[in-house]
Amino acid sequence: MLSIVLPSYFEEANVKYIYTQILAAVDDRDDLELIYVDDGSQDQTFEEVRALAKKDPRVRGIRLSRNFGQQAANLAGLNEAKGDEIVMMDADGQHPPALIPVMIRKLSEGYDIVNTKRTDMEGAGFFRKVFSRIFYRIINFLSDVNIDNSQVDFRIFNRATLNAFLEFNEHNRFNRGIFTWMGFNQAQIEFRAGHRNSGQSNYNFRKLTKLALDGITSFSTRPLRLCFYLGLIIIFSGMIYGIYAILNYFFGHTNPGWTSLLITILILGGVQLFSLGIIGEYLGRIFIETKKRPHYLIRERV
Ligand code: UDP
Ligand code: MG
Repeated sequence: MLSIVLPSYFEEANVKYIYTQILAAVDDRDDLELIYVDDGSQDQTFEEVRALAKKDPRVRGIRLSRNFGQQAANLAGLNEAKGDEIVMMDADGQHPPALIPVMIRKLSEGYDIVNTKRTDMEGAGFFRKVFSRIFYRIINFLSDVNIDNSQVDFRIFNRATLNAFLEFNEHNRFNRGIFTWMGFNQAQIEFRAGHRNSGQSNYNFRKLTKLALDGITSFSTRPLRLCFYLGLIIIFSGMIYGIYAILNYFFGHTNPGWTSLLITILILGGVQLFSLGIIGEYLGRIFIETKKRPHYLIRERV
């Protein structure tokens, strides 16, 4: 059986569209399940899914109790998937269903995971492109997993991979990183990303920053180590500056000192706040993990 998981947030105009496209791509096969996960949309997304599910028993809908974010919505769908081969993709038409047969063929060549990579970022604004590039630069510099800038959450994998994936219990998930981290036998296919079929991107600056921080902090403690080295360097230069100041004092070149003092305080204050912030990021995540809250809550199923 083939399971296709579609996280959907404000996708009322895309539910039917993606359904038609997928069925056309996989030749209307019977051993198929489409799992729409309505991530707390405030529009008619779930009603659209309900209507589809009434007509076609292959369609299932899960409605989360509020907006938990794409990573959690994906997890919710994957938890319900019964197939031997599982596809995760966006519901907005940016991940072309026509690629699914190609991915299935690639998987049958003996791979466990087939990832996709977009060769362009059509439909993404200038700001988004720049943000994405900077984000992946930082994440790859800071962490121990290597993640490709153009990889997207459109992939197919087998049961064994899904079972392994479901063993990851962490909150504040960065699924792309988890898949990279997992290993197994992975392949990659390229495609051209199109525009959204309808609606607009649900990612804003706040959501993107959260994803970026999740990606960085869940894959390394290197920022903590960076703080340590930064602190060392500053202490060392501070000592040299201190010796210089003492020598000055003894040889009579009295230094007015106002400027240097101010600069020192400002820089130190900045570094301290920055480091505290990083520690806070990790601490916050530890706090979230220790509560062991569910990743999402289900309000309704069809
Ligand atoms: N999505 C979701 N919850 C969210 C944000 C997005 O389930 O809080 C879904 C959305 O419906 C879409 C996919 O995740 O199917 C990708 O979202 P979007 O198209 O907004 O992101 P972009 O394509 O701009 O990266
Ligand atoms: Mg999109």
